[in-house]
Amino acid sequence: MREFAHIASHDLKEPLRTILGFVQLLELKFGHLAHTDAKNYINYITIGIQRMENLINALLQYTRINNSPLTIEKVDTQLLLKELENSLNDLLQRKNAQLHYENMPIILADDQQIRQIFQNLIQNGIKFNKNTLPTINIEAVDKETYWEFSVKDNGIGIAPEYQEQIFTIFNRLHNQNEFEGTGIGLSLCQRIVERHGGRIWLDSEPGLGTTFYFTIAKKQ
Ligand code: ADP
Repeated sequence: MREFAHIASHDLKEPLRTILGFVQLLELKFGHLAHTDAKNYINYITIGIQRMENLINALLQYTRINNSPLTIEKVDTQLLLKELENSLNDLLQRKNAQLHYENMPIILADDQQIRQIFQNLIQNGIKFNKNTLPTINIEAVDKETYWEFSVKDNGIGIAPEYQEQIFTIFNRLHNQNEFEGTGIGLSLCQRIVERHGGRIWLDSEPGLGTTFYFTIAKKQ
């Protein structure tokens, strides 16, 4: 897998860079002569290359997280969410979105990886949301041997027949024009949760919103 990540980063990216370089040259040298159709085609090629680059980077992130050993430490999830809220401030403002959480626990986990789960779920809750006031409510319930976290949004929801397949890598329910993405976020969340002795699932009502649940074992 490590080898694969290496190949992905170098061998796959290199030809993309070459294509991008020549497309840019084509535009620079002949752009002023080109027919509108040709300009549009150049534009589509550029978008395609960028998308491929995003996918490679996402795949790399997946293999990196999958392979790196867990660093288990005390993680204050209240503080972690405060930091995430600050780093997502631009997005929250742009989407007029609100984040609610309180009395979140201190858990034993890998800080970076738990951060990744919350970040993915929060970003998805805001992205797949057409509400004028996107709202994300985060809670934690003490289940004695594990913590059960929930991230609830008031977004577009997910029809029952799709609820399982969204955890499969690259599976998406929308095209890029509707909602951008790589289809890697949830499979990454599932992998991280499983590495922490937990599970992830969801409850959703199309049109009303989605709640993602995940558990983290207290003993790591
Ligand atoms: P990405 O966000 O890059 O598309 P994810 O793996 O995070 O990839 O999600 C997979 C798919 O699951 C999304 O494309 C979307 O169709 C659906 N999805 C994920 N989160 C939500 C949500 N909160 N509300 C509605 N649909 C969602």
